[in-house]
Amino acid sequence: MTGVHANKKNKICPSCGGLLEDGKATIPFIIRKNIVIVVKAVPAEICLDCKEPYVRGNATDQVLILLKHLKSLKSEVSVVTYSPKLSDRIY
Ligand SMILES: [Zn+2]
Repeated sequence: MTGVHANKKNKICPSCGGLLEDGKATIPFIIRKNIVIVVKAVPAEICLDCKEPYVRGNATDQVLILLKHLKSLKSEVSVVTYSPKLSDRIY
């Protein structure tokens, strides 16, 4: 992709070519057959056309930590709100 301006405000959706907008997404993660964890308010770039959320690197790391903690609870369905400082909330 040469000749594309490095303009942070015009990111393009890899799946449909729509414009991405910064926002917050509610994302369900299916851990195993019977375990679903829904994480709310995850910072993501959301496609204006297909509504697909793209979670950025550091947010992904936080989500993975969160999922790891929640998996150990063995709850079939968990709904949590994303926090960048998980250690304050999860015990
Ligand atoms: Zn899209």
